[in-house]
Amino acid sequence: MRATNRKRVLITGGAGFLGSHLCEILIAKGYEVLCVDNYFTGTKENIAHLVGDPYFEMLRHDITFPLYVEVDEIYNLACPASPIHYQHDPVQTTKTSVHGAINMLGLSKRINARILQASTSEVYGDPKVHPQTESYWGNVNPVGIRACYDEGKRCAETLFFDYYRQHRLPIKVLRIFNTYGPRMHPNDGRVVSNFIVQALNNNPMTIFGDGTQTRSFCYVSDLIDVMTLFMESPAEFTGPLNAGNPVEFTISELAETIITLTGSRSQITNKPLPHDDPKQRCPDISLVKKKLGWEPKVGLEEGLRNTIDYFDEHLRCHTKIKNNSNP
Ligand code: NAD
Ligand code: UDP
Repeated sequence: MRATNRKRVLITGGAGFLGSHLCEILIAKGYEVLCVDNYFTGTKENIAHLVGDPYFEMLRHDITFPLYVEVDEIYNLACPASPIHYQHDPVQTTKTSVHGAINMLGLSKRINARILQASTSEVYGDPKVHPQTESYWGNVNPVGIRACYDEGKRCAETLFFDYYRQHRLPIKVLRIFNTYGPRMHPNDGRVVSNFIVQALNNNPMTIFGDGTQTRSFCYVSDLIDVMTLFMESPAEFTGPLNAGNPVEFTISELAETIITLTGSRSQITNKPLPHDDPKQRCPDISLVKKKLGWEPKVGLEEGLRNTIDYFDEHLRCHTKIKNNSNP
């Protein structure tokens, strides 16, 4: 017998960067949240403020193993997302994407829960089409060092669409482009967190390659907004759906902006470009605008200021954190 009328939602990877924001927002929207995480890259600290809330529950679990719970909706976010983390144990990364997807889809099938997959712009690899539309099939090196993540996520998308075709499962596949904000892991090696931590410490800022490669950066509140809108959208709208900020910057421009906003004395230093590093990336967001009326609201400077404030505070509390910036 259910104790409340609240919808119950499972968030895998809920103690991570995006997952912790999603837990917070869904509780605020009136859901009961079950957060599942194995703490590989996520932390209890990210969700500490939710512990004690009667509508929040935490479970330590690795999604490469089956999970038996009863919920109405599933957000499948569990997977290391930064190159340093997903390349640390590449076999486990593929297992998390593929076995994790099979387990979560099996769960969804048993309890008939709507399920959203946190897919990625990495399915486009080093794209030959720019900006990337959902109809583009991508350019991924299947045997390179990014493949454990890229191909894992591509296979997960295949599984989602096969469960949809074969079992009529209510699926949603969201292709997330580079997203940043408070609670990124300070040592995850992603460019925004790396540059901010380096700038705040007045350490050299490591640009990989010549800094002309591009990315477009979406602030976390915008991303969580579109993720929940997508979940609530009509069942027949499965995606795949791009979500990200379409304003494109070179990595050098990002470094300069962060130096200006922090007032840092950091100097730029160039390091070798990692293998298979995409040269450009920018979402075409026409579909999400048309279907959900969504577009990002937070510009880069505003988002970076919030993120810088977070890291400033975080670094003060954790003086032992060393910046790990080698490719
Ligand atoms: P993150 O590393 O902060 O969060 C991932 C979470 O998953 C962590 O809490 C980690 O401990 C957990 N996890 C990893 N393996 C697990 C397993 N086997 N079982 C249970 N939990 C496990 O990364 P994030 O940036 O919050 O990314 C969340 C999701 O969004 C990922 O699936 C990622 O691929 C996707 N995504 C993120 C971005 C981005 O820019 N942040 C872009 C594209 C896609
Ligand atoms: N990058 C960089 N310096 C860093 C970290 C990353 O120049 O300290 C570059 C990286 O080579 C890539 C871009 O920034 O071209 C974005 O890297 P990130 O790991 O954040 O995301 P992804 O490559 O997965 O988009």
